[in-house]
Amino acid sequence: MVQQQSHPTTDEAAQSEPRKAEAPVIPTISTGEGLVYHQGRLVPTHEAMLSVTTHALHYGTGCFEGIRAYWNEEQEQLYVLKLREHFERFAHSRRILMMHPGESVEELCDVTVELLRRQEIRSDAYIRPVAYKSARTIKLTLSSLEDSISIYAFPMGNYVDISAGLNVCVSNWRRVSGNAIPVRAKTTGAYINSALATDEAAAAGFDEAIFLTQSGTVSEGSSCNIFVVKKGRISTTRPADDILEGITREAAMQLLARDMGLATEVRAIERTELYDADEIFFTGTGVQISPVTRVDRRAIGSGQPGPITMELQQRYLRAARGDDPAYADWLTPVYPRQAGA
Ligand code: PMP
Repeated sequence: MVQQQSHPTTDEAAQSEPRKAEAPVIPTISTGEGLVYHQGRLVPTHEAMLSVTTHALHYGTGCFEGIRAYWNEEQEQLYVLKLREHFERFAHSRRILMMHPGESVEELCDVTVELLRRQEIRSDAYIRPVAYKSARTIKLTLSSLEDSISIYAFPMGNYVDISAGLNVCVSNWRRVSGNAIPVRAKTTGAYINSALATDEAAAAGFDEAIFLTQSGTVSEGSSCNIFVVKKGRISTTRPADDILEGITREAAMQLLARDMGLATEVRAIERTELYDADEIFFTGTGVQISPVTRVDRRAIGSGQPGPITMELQQRYLRAARGDDPAYADWLTPVYPRQAGA
């Protein structure tokens, strides 16, 4: 179902210190294989097509989720991480966009498991539910339009290099204000904001971008939340800073508190606090727990991924892959459990 694209790395990059984060391969989806849940049915991918007159294509009137599933080789099991939480947020996004209630959270969870099982996915995977105004009209409105849901899934490993430490910049693009576009809803159109920031960052040689809010304090990454560690004190930005309240952000706070005895303060963070931090990390379904080691060409702390970040990353990945029974309730198994397992 996926076509690979290569991202060449230069010899120079390979030799430089500290190690440069490698850009992982993000697959392009082929329509020639696989299944899609599309408008109430599981159909072959090539049948899940939309008209060019679809409202959401013109006005960005859609919302989506990004969900990960982790393959546990030893247990021969695929675990979907925080499936219910993602579909609950999806329901909130849909409500904000005045979409019909449609399928329930339970139905969407069930159909996602079936989609993965029917495609026999036995590797780490990414699941993309999207809801969109499917009405074929140019009428500029959110209400009283037909809407639809589609879900597809494909094998995918890391979205960014999670071991080397990311080299990031503060973007010239400000985070879209919740008073302009509701950022609490994961709306498709608002991701132009994120794409502008990541393109700008990549063109200047950075791995990622950090948004400031309209009023100039730190908001989040282009597709992830941000945490700052200073003298053992952990902070992350507030919902009022126009963040998408990440499911991974919540999971990270839980792991930090429960397993590492570290409370997270949710507060406004100044741009220059970033330069002064001992550690910085991003959280998100895509980026998982990713260390940030440079901001605006300044080394963060030692310039290497920090100890709190890397311990948290390890604990998060153990939980996500089904290797930590204390977090079994985060996971939905895709394949029937073997007797006695
Ligand atoms: N902020 C933005 C803008 C995002 O796109 C994402 C990814 N969904 C996040 C934060 C992190 O959210 P989550 O941990 O739920 O993936």
